[in-house]
Amino acid sequence: MAISVFDLFKVGIGPSSSHTVGPMRAARQFALKLDAAGLLPATTRITATLMGSLGATGRGHASDRAIVLGLMGQEPDTVPMALVFGCMDALQAQPTLAVLGRHPIAFDPAHDLVWEPQQRLPFHPNALRLSAWDAAGLRLLEDTFYSVGGGFIVPQALADHPERHGDVAPGAATLPLPFQHASELLQRCAEHGIGIAEVMRRNEARWHAPADIDPGLDRIWQAMQDCVIRGCHQDGELPGGFHVHRRAPALLRKLLAAGDAHNAPTPLLTHSLTEMDWVTLWALAVNEENAAGGRVVTAPTNGAAGIVPAVLHHAMRHLPGADDQRARDFLLTAAAIGLLFKENASISGAEVGCQGEVGVACAMAAAGLCAVMGGTPEQVENAAEIGMEHHLGLTCDPVGGLVQIPCIERNAVGAVQAIHAARLALLGDGRHRVSLDDVIRTMKQTGADMQTRYKETALGGLAVHIVAC
Ligand code: SF4
Repeated sequence: MAISVFDLFKVGIGPSSSHTVGPMRAARQFALKLDAAGLLPATTRITATLMGSLGATGRGHASDRAIVLGLMGQEPDTVPMALVFGCMDALQAQPTLAVLGRHPIAFDPAHDLVWEPQQRLPFHPNALRLSAWDAAGLRLLEDTFYSVGGGFIVPQALADHPERHGDVAPGAATLPLPFQHASELLQRCAEHGIGIAEVMRRNEARWHAPADIDPGLDRIWQAMQDCVIRGCHQDGELPGGFHVHRRAPALLRKLLAAGDAHNAPTPLLTHSLTEMDWVTLWALAVNEENAAGGRVVTAPTNGAAGIVPAVLHHAMRHLPGADDQRARDFLLTAAAIGLLFKENASISGAEVGCQGEVGVACAMAAAGLCAVMGGTPEQVENAAEIGMEHHLGLTCDPVGGLVQIPCIERNAVGAVQAIHAARLALLGDGRHRVSLDDVIRTMKQTGADMQTRYKETALGGLAVHIVAC
């Protein structure tokens, strides 16, 4: 399946692309389907069953709120943040919601949302079944959706008939410069004497007029910067009961003070590695904003949303000669790598563990940075391979089912690793022993072998060793 760069980098809300953005889009799609079938006037009740990983960690990931917003017809990129933060309180005060904003029904989250963590459907561990009922208790419509990572959803009809994917998205073969694997991507670059970003740009013409591509990329970069700014200026504690404090604002104050060496609060911050502390700041800011349910860009997921923006900030602020084109090429290159993982393995923590989120984000950011630092397509492929190779086997064990520990810090570490991977690749000539395709295959197999408790269920790892107090 061919995927646009703007499907991979989507503006949404936190804290999770698979558990918040995906369920919200699924619930909206269900409401629209009800309406299109003329069933909305007869609908008096809607129930939602959250299965597998959605059932296990959906509460901590605000899946309940996402479903409510989706049924109301709201979309992740445009929903007013006041509604995001106020809708559950409003529902508690008065248990009714307006489907698509115009058809009121009674809705009690305690009864109408059913959590079934033990029930795992074969297609994907994140399954959501939505049912609409009339006043006599007759079921009017039922559909199951799978939230497959990064905010992407697959309805049951498509899960049953993968050959129909072409009905909703073009196949890779329909692209001007088709590629399914990294080897083919490199081939396209060699055939046309262009870089990875240019391959992506030409393929993007499948969806968008050439004149719309740069403004679209600029909007994504702006949304990432806005998120960093908000995260840098929001002090306080994150929701969820684990008393996790936001660290970005205090770190920003220290780094600004360190700008004047005499005022540096600690000798550490006058060190030449201070650039690394800025990268840490940018990643923390994004992921703290995400954990608070704020507006972020999936890159490729919400849990891993801090790595690409942090490394892109580094490319724009720390490296000389930055211009708008650098940010665009970075994003296009990073997206190419994200698409390879999405198409050939997974970007879902519930399916392959955190290697599919933070690991993929690290590979994407390493590739983007390597490209804008002048790397050849082979060096860029090498950077992405290094970025993932050292995340293989990384588990997903979010404490309390929240996207906070280890997720927030893990993004800061992943961003620094991405910079290291890019620089390591640039020190070589692009020739290397393990190909990106090899590492993608390995990641997929490792994810399949990983025990379920380490795949976004909060039943293993740190999640069972750290308790709320
Ligand atoms: S541990 Fe990784 S995969 Fe799991 S929720 Fe956190 S960021 Fe996502």
